[in-house]
Amino acid sequence: MRICRFDDDRLGVVSNGLVHDVTAVADELPALKWPLPRGDHFFNHLDRLRPRIEAMAKTVPGRPVSEVKLLSPVANPGKIVAAPVNYKLHLDESRADTQINFGTQVKTIDDYGVFLKATSSMIGAGDVVVADWPERRIDHEIELAFVIGKQGFRIAEEDALSHVAGYMIGLDMTIRGTEDRSFRKSLDTFTVFGPHMVTADEIGDPNSLDFEIRVNGETRQKSNTGLLIWNVQKLIAYASRAYTLYPGDVFMTGTPEGVAPVVPGDRMHAWIEGIGEMTVAVGG
Ligand code: MN
Repeated sequence: MRICRFDDDRLGVVSNGLVHDVTAVADELPALKWPLPRGDHFFNHLDRLRPRIEAMAKTVPGRPVSEVKLLSPVANPGKIVAAPVNYKLHLDESRADTQINFGTQVKTIDDYGVFLKATSSMIGAGDVVVADWPERRIDHEIELAFVIGKQGFRIAEEDALSHVAGYMIGLDMTIRGTEDRSFRKSLDTFTVFGPHMVTADEIGDPNSLDFEIRVNGETRQKSNTGLLIWNVQKLIAYASRAYTLYPGDVFMTGTPEGVAPVVPGDRMHAWIEGIGEMTVAVGG
C-alpha cells in the first residue's frame, strides 16, 4: 500500500496514479491531550487502522496524483536519524573536493555514527526547497528513507526490518561549509520526503534498490542501496543502542557519489525502484 498526505492534511492511498481520500479513517484516531505521547499519532495506530484504510481506498473515487499537493507522508516524526558518508564513492568524492570537505579529513560512518536532522526542516514533494543563501553551495543528496512502525530499544539486526513501517524517497539538502551537519542539513525545507510511503511488505529487501536523481533532466546521482556501507538493519541496530525508536521516526540512509549544487529555478527529479518518483522544485 502507498500512503500519502496531501492538500489540507488529507490522508490518501495512491494506486495507479490516483489518490483515494481516506481521511475519514484518520478521524477515528483517539483524541489527544497535552502532553502528547511520543511517536507520530498516525503511525502509533497504523497497524490497527490499516484494514479500514485498505477497505475504504477501494470504495472512494480517486483523483490524479498530479492534481494534488503532496505533503510529507509522516506528519510529526519525533526524530530524523541520518547517516553520514555511507557510500564508498561518496567518501572518495568528499575527500577529493575541497568545496565539500572544507579542509577537514572526511571519515566514514564507522567513525561518525549517525546524526539528527531537525524535524522542522521537513517538507513534502509538493513543497519547494528554498535555496536562498546565494554565497553558499547547496547540494542535493538523494537517499533511501524509511519510517519506523514499531517501538524498540537495542534492536538486533535480525529483528530490525520488522520495525520498519515503510519506505520513501528522501532528499537530504545540504549547505556546504564548516558547521556541524545538524546545522547545515536542518535549514527549513532541507528535508524532503515523498512522494508517498510504500509499506514494507511491498519492498521486501531494501538493500538492493536502484535509484537516481536528475536535475533539469541531467543525471547527477545513480546508484543502488546494495552499496551502502551500513545497510538498513545495521542503521536501526546502531541508532537504537542510543535512542528508543518510536513509530513515525524517520531514517535517511546516506547518499552516493554525484552530489552537486542546485540553484533557484532548478527542478529535481528523484526515483527509487519499488517506491516511485517525485519532482521537487528549488526556489529562492
Ligand atoms: Mn545525506
